[in-house]
Parts: sequence; C-alpha cells; structure tokens
Amino acid sequence: MKDKLTLMIPGPTPVPETVLKAMGRHPIGHRSGEFQTIVKRTNEQLRWLHQTSNDVVVITGSGTAAMEAGIINTLSYGDKVLCGSNGKFGERWVKVAKSYGLDVEVIKAEWGQPLDPDIFKQALESDTSKEIKGVIITHSETSTGVLNDLEKISKYVNSHGTALMIADCVTSLGACNVPMDLWGLDVVASGSQKGYMMPPGLSFVAMSEKAWKASDKSNLPKFYLDLKPYRKTAAQNSNPFTPAVNLYFALEAALAMMEEEGLDAIFNRHARHRAAAQASMKAIGLSLYAADGFGSPAITSVVPNNIDAEVLRKEIKNRYDILLAGGQDHLKGKIFRIGHLGFVSDRDLLTAIASIEATLQTLGLNNNMGAGLAAAQKILH
Ligand SMILES: *Cc1c(COP(=O)(O)O)cnc(C)c1O
Repeated sequence: MKDKLTLMIPGPTPVPETVLKAMGRHPIGHRSGEFQTIVKRTNEQLRWLHQTSNDVVVITGSGTAAMEAGIINTLSYGDKVLCGSNGKFGERWVKVAKSYGLDVEVIKAEWGQPLDPDIFKQALESDTSKEIKGVIITHSETSTGVLNDLEKISKYVNSHGTALMIADCVTSLGACNVPMDLWGLDVVASGSQKGYMMPPGLSFVAMSEKAWKASDKSNLPKFYLDLKPYRKTAAQNSNPFTPAVNLYFALEAALAMMEEEGLDAIFNRHARHRAAAQASMKAIGLSLYAADGFGSPAITSVVPNNIDAEVLRKEIKNRYDILLAGGQDHLKGKIFRIGHLGFVSDRDLLTAIASIEATLQTLGLNNNMGAGLAAAQKILH
C-alpha cells in the first residue's frame, strides 16, 4: 500500500514527524546568528548523548566518513593497529586502515560470535615496546547483530597507555550505554540515520584529549575530513564548510526528543525490544544468529530454518509493507534481521512479529500462530 512502508532495518531508521517537520523549511545561511545558535545548542546536546566533556564534531557524510575521519586524524603512516573483525563492518575498518598504509593486525571471531577481549589483552600486554598505536573495533556489529564488549576491550587499551581506543558506535550510541569518558574511549563514531532518529546525511566523531593530541602528529593525507578545522570552528559555533543546514534542524529536534525521553529510558526501551524480539523468534521455532547473551540492542538476527530468508523477507514486504534487513555476503538468504533501533515503539515491534508469524503461516511453515506475540507480550506487557 502506498505510503505504508515501515522500516525495521538498522538504518535508515524511522523518523518522527516532529523531526521531519523541523527539516521542512527554507535553509538559512550557515554563517547567520540563527544558525550559530543551533550549532551551539546541538554541540551541547551531542556531549550529553556521548556522556562526554569532549568535543563532538559533525561531518556531512555517512557513518563511514566519521569512522574514516577518526582513523586518519589520529594515526600515522605505518602505525600498528589491532582491528577487530567479526562481521561486515569490522572488515570495512580493516580495509580503511590498510588503504591508508597502517600496519594492521586483524583479530577475528566467527560471524555471530563476539570478539574475545582476552586476545586484545594479550596482544596489548605483550607489546612492551608500545608499537600498537590504535585498537579499532565495532561495538554493535550490525551485520550479525552481535554486541562486542567495548567496555572491557577499552579497559585493556587504557592499561596499555599508548594505544587509542577507536570505536564504531554507529548502532550502539543511542541504543545502549556508551559512556565515552567513563569507559575511556578515544574516538567514537556514529551516524544520523541510526539511533538519532534522523535521515542519513550527518555523522559524528567524538574525540578524547588524547586523540586530539595524537591528531597534531598524524601524517595521513586528509583535507575534507581533517577534523582540526571542525574543532576550531565548532568552538565558534560554526563549521569549516557548508553543513547540511536542514539536517541540523532535524538534529536539534531529534536530540530534544531524546533529552525528553532520557538516556536511561531510551536504553531500557531498546533492551526490552531486544528481549521481546529474541523471545518471540525462539517461540515460533526460529533460531537466533548471534551468540547467546551477545545480542545487539539495535538488531536481532534470525535464522529461518526451512525457508530462504530472502523469500520470507520479500513476502513480508509485499504483504505488510514492513522492510526487514537481509543477510550480507555469505549470510544472504540464511538470515534476516529485525531492526529495532531508534524511533521504534512496542507497536512497531509487535506488528513486525505478527507479520513474520502470519507470513510463515501463509507459507505453511507455522501452525502455532500467535506463539511469538505471546512471548513478546510477556516481556513488553
Ligand atoms: C550503518 C553502519 C555504519 C555506517 O554506514 P554508512 O552506510 O556509512 O552510514 C558503520 N558501522 C555500523 C556498525 C553500521 O551499522
């Protein structure tokens, strides 16, 4: 049905009407006093969201731009880095690091499994000559629905002393607790189309004082993504280039909504939705792809045992206008992923679960219609 599409993918995520309306006005001059007021306000809101006193820089670009910026501003040619890889995004950061000539040691885990913090610990502890300059990991690995133990890995990085903790928090920020200062994170990257409840187009890099200091020495090539001019102009409530002015209107509105809900309430909502999504899929006899206890608060990956996941996904889209995410690479057809990130309510999740059940029943693969909803309702009630 026209105009009925519900996004249940891990980005772009649904956008509240308040945010859409905030965007729907004429752009204003990006050097105007009115715009500077918005920059000032959003800079404060971003610090609140990141639980940090550090500067958070806003880039016009997708999440990858933020992550690439974090890497190329803090490291130098030939620097040794440890890069965690247990999914598509982990693989991407390995590629970025290698394309800039970093000396990358990949620490892998099977897709669906979390990274093992002890391997990082050993590599960091045995590095007595302090060759390791950075540790790069993805907190919530969206491709598999696994939440890695960023807090623990960051603790080992901080004990090492020299290495910087560089984290892709694109689907964890605004979904679960990511206290930047408390955990000692040096670079935190995120994107507007995820937990921010905004359309795609803005991305964010928060950097610790240690990371800013490293940026003074970093010799990797950069111009548009050189973060120093962003920091300097942010201090004057401005931007080095023309920012996506209308997305700033959206950012201000979305962060105000997040402040109104409160961080703890936002994290609780995501935790409840994760629990309900997991319980419902198990109740209808499907298995979860992510290792037990490591499911992401943003996304639940599901293995539909007797059907191609792509067929199921297409049926759900055609019948009910709900878009679920598919599997990537070797997981295509093997899993589907329910996004419950950002502006997602109990109703959205219950509807998605009901649609999965109904579609399976239509296809003759579910004779216990309602079991998933009952399991979800036990958690949501
Ligand atoms: C979405 C996402 C990104 C950023 O992807 P873009 O398409 O560049 O916005 C990075 N990391 C993770 C884990 C993501 O889910």
